[in-house]
This record gives sequence, C-alpha cells and structure tokens, in this order.
Amino acid sequence: MKKLIAANWKMNKSISEAISFIEEFKRLVSNEKNVDIVVCSPFTSLQAVANKLKGSGNIKLGAQNMHFEDSGAYTGEISPLMLKDIGCEYVILGHSERREFFDEDDFLINKKVIAALNHSLKPILCIGENLEQRKSGKTNDVLENQLEKCLKGIDKNQILEMCIAYEPIWAISRGDPNHKPATKEDAEEGHKFIRNFLASTFDEKTAKNVRIIYGGSMKPENAKELLQMPNIDGGLVGNASLNAKSFAEIIKSI
Ligand code: PEP
Repeated sequence: MKKLIAANWKMNKSISEAISFIEEFKRLVSNEKNVDIVVCSPFTSLQAVANKLKGSGNIKLGAQNMHFEDSGAYTGEISPLMLKDIGCEYVILGHSERREFFDEDDFLINKKVIAALNHSLKPILCIGENLEQRKSGKTNDVLENQLEKCLKGIDKNQILEMCIAYEPIWAISRGDPNHKPATKEDAEEGHKFIRNFLASTFDEKTAKNVRIIYGGSMKPENAKELLQMPNIDGGLVGNASLNAKSFAEIIKSI
C-alpha cells in the first residue's frame, strides 16, 4: 500500500505564505511518486493552493474541517459541496483540537464522515487518547469507543475510502518543535489495535487496505523509524509541515 503523508497547517499561513510554500515544496518532491501527499490548508488559502497544485499529480488538496449539511443557515461554516467545488479530495475530521476547543463529539464527527463520503471526499478521521486516559490504562477502550461511534453506518466500500489517523493527544506538539512523539513501539501498538478493530468490524482483507497514519510530533528526525513500523501507513504532520524543507524531508524518509 502506498503511504500517505498529510500536512495539517492548522490556523497558519497567509495566502502569499501558502503560495511560496507550494512553489518550493513542489520542486522538492517532484520525484516522489511512490507516496500520496496531501496539503490541508486553512479555508482561506485553499483556492490559492489548488491553483498552485494544478498539474502536480502526487500532491492533493485537503481541508481541516467541514459541516455535514450541503448548504443552509449555518453562519461561519463550510459545506462538503464547497470543498469539492474548490478541488479538495481529502478532509480532516475529528481532530483532537476540534474535539477539545469546539466541543465536537463522536456523534457529530460521524455525521461529518458520512457527509464527506456521500460527496466523494476522503475523510482523514482522527482518534486518540489523552495522557490521563493512557496513564489509567484506558487507551484501547478510548480508541474502540471512538471508532465504534465515528464509523457507525460505514460499510466496507466506504471504509476503504477513508484514512484513520492515530493521534495520541499527549504526543501532539501544539507548535513546540521539541515536544516528544510517541515511541515507535507505542505508536505501532495503537495502530495494531485499530487494524484489529477494522478486521473484526469488516474483514481482514479490508482492514489491510485501510491506511492508518500516525500523528503527533512527526519530524525529519523520527519519521523514518515510525514509518518503518508494519502498521504505520503514513503520517499526519502538524508543526513540521509548516516548513517546505522539513515536510519534504519527512516524505523522502519513506
Ligand atoms: C496534529 O495536530 O495533527 C499534529 C500531528 O501536530 P504535530 O505534528 O505538530 O504534533
């Protein structure tokens, strides 16, 4: 399976900064055909990034959130149709920052996952435990609960269009470049648990073909060892994706 590396720029970059990034980044990864690359920019720079990505087959456009309705009286929201219109192929859903700061719950995230799939947008569904849950030995229960609720009503064909991002919340950098990632063993354990959940919910073959990517302080220094683990099919990269060189280095470490 081709690995997938996605940039989550979060609430960063003006339009001109986004354009400069893509110009530099395209040159750096023009030979990297063996990996799917996604850039999830803020809504305000999606159009500019889409224009710059035209003709660069291996880099796809993604958004960081969306509403589940097609249109309507939802001030400040963006619909799946709008994301399709602008050229998005992917959308991050259920990020821990959306859950923590905007009170998104699994029920809402499930609605968004279904809406994205109905519009042929590929959801990057984020799940993961916080430090307290990990310390009290609840990691697997948390992951199982999130998966059950967020994937309610999803069938075998639909899960193959999705990507699951295992993002242990305690490993996410929140902008601190020195923040510690999960060890490759801890990350692999989470990924294996998710793979087994998918195998028992769908079947072994389906589970093998769903990409499960790791997120949490991935950077050029640790990407290779994480990406070599058997159940880690890529990465969701926050802080280290803001710089074209460091994001390209992660991709080249595959
Ligand atoms: C994220 O929040 O999705 C993330 C992976 O961030 P970072 O790489 O900065 O830890």
